[in-house]
Amino acid sequence: MDPPFPPRYHERMSDALSSPAPSAPVPDPARLVARLGHVREWIFDLDNTLYPASNALFAQIEERMAAYMMRVFGLRRSDAQKLRREYWRDHGTTLAGLMRNHRTDPDAFLDEVHRIDFSVLRPDPRLRAAMLALPGRRIVFTNGTSDYARRVIAALGLDGCFEAVYGIREAFYTPKPLPAAYQRIFGADGLNPRRAAMFEDDPRNLEVPHALGVACVLVGPEARPDLPHVDFATDDLAGFVSRLGPLLRAAPRLESGA
Ligand SMILES: [Mg+2]
Repeated sequence: MDPPFPPRYHERMSDALSSPAPSAPVPDPARLVARLGHVREWIFDLDNTLYPASNALFAQIEERMAAYMMRVFGLRRSDAQKLRREYWRDHGTTLAGLMRNHRTDPDAFLDEVHRIDFSVLRPDPRLRAAMLALPGRRIVFTNGTSDYARRVIAALGLDGCFEAVYGIREAFYTPKPLPAAYQRIFGADGLNPRRAAMFEDDPRNLEVPHALGVACVLVGPEARPDLPHVDFATDDLAGFVSRLGPLLRAAPRLESGA
């Protein structure tokens, strides 16, 4: 079956990613205010965004996904990992590839792969304070389940930071980066993309939001500021967000000349 992405998507992305990555500069305050001053809806991805990939929480899920495929399809570990990466590449998530090609029951799969050790996560009081200082609403939008997301949020000490948490079930099992996922979640939430910013570690997942008018921040150690659909890139989410609250709250006073 054809992958659901536009035919030239991977070609365009590999072109964009083939040159050396410029490091993410600390953004100029005037540019932050110009690009994010109107934002009152803050959308956060979960895995490898609210906590760094170096915590190896999501790596546990990847291991469990591969173990599932080894058991169900009788594959060797290396072949299971290869197929898992192909499904992620071609369908947005491993689960989407399994559902499309094998009619996998999503709930049984999700329950199995989310049975992991959360103790690798530690509370992040710096991120919590930065989040709470943002003007407006904050939501989480993940390709995992919202139950899993709430456990991660609790382990990070971020309880009470988010007005809503949306997962793959709320998106009717259509994952980011497919346009229908954003239509469903943005529609269910009632958010206005033109007053929104989104933080994500997977650059693919920012293409549709960018086209809808969402300001896009790519997060992670290899986050690249030079992709056409990325407004800012940072490898320090708490540091980036902690600069925004005071800047954006001061911005209206600056504009009015007070
Ligand atoms: Mg992620």
